[in-house]
Amino acid sequence: MTQLVAVSKTHPVATIEQAIALGQRVFGENRVQEAMLKFPALKEHYPDIELHLLGALQTNKIKEAIEHFDVIETLDRKKLADAFAKEQARGTVLPKLYIQVNTGNEPQKAGILPQEANEFIIYCKDTLHLPVVGLMCIPPVDEPPAPHFTYLKDLAAAHNLPYLSMGMSNDWQDAIKFGATHIRVGTAIFGSR
Ligand SMILES: *Cc1c(COP(=O)(O)O)cnc(C)c1O
Repeated sequence: MTQLVAVSKTHPVATIEQAIALGQRVFGENRVQEAMLKFPALKEHYPDIELHLLGALQTNKIKEAIEHFDVIETLDRKKLADAFAKEQARGTVLPKLYIQVNTGNEPQKAGILPQEANEFIIYCKDTLHLPVVGLMCIPPVDEPPAPHFTYLKDLAAAHNLPYLSMGMSNDWQDAIKFGATHIRVGTAIFGSR
């Protein structure tokens, strides 16, 4: 089964409440600050909401991110992994973590590079004992996504990671075919931002 992560960034609480009324409980936001303004009250009313962080995380926001998100999909560099490990060593229970992979080797995009991915996954899981349970990617806009989805699926399988977050408004059907456990859809649900 594939979980729909409804990407509610830039949309107001009233819009999110409409989705909740229709039964949606899993949401994605890009910015810690925006999520902190919108979700605490919603979570109080609907404790079964699961909130995913989909945007880049700065280490100075890590405490807030841990507090407000159930899943952080953008673990993408050693400095951030070490910061999570430091919080964990203090006794903090971390959210579920996915490692973001820059499958297209795009210089402007976040994510660990494919040639560094194996070593980074092992570092996070086995050296730091972080709760890494999945991988996430955003394929290049100008390429067919299938090879990227296949690559991510094989990488997750090689490391026994159960969750695969891939597919957005324009390619979620393909992502499901290639084994996505989570698709992240914003525009196709809420309209343009
Ligand atoms: C905004 C965003 C989405 C949703 O994109 P849509 O094209 O609106 O569906 C998915 N994933 C990430 C990481 C995003 O930043």
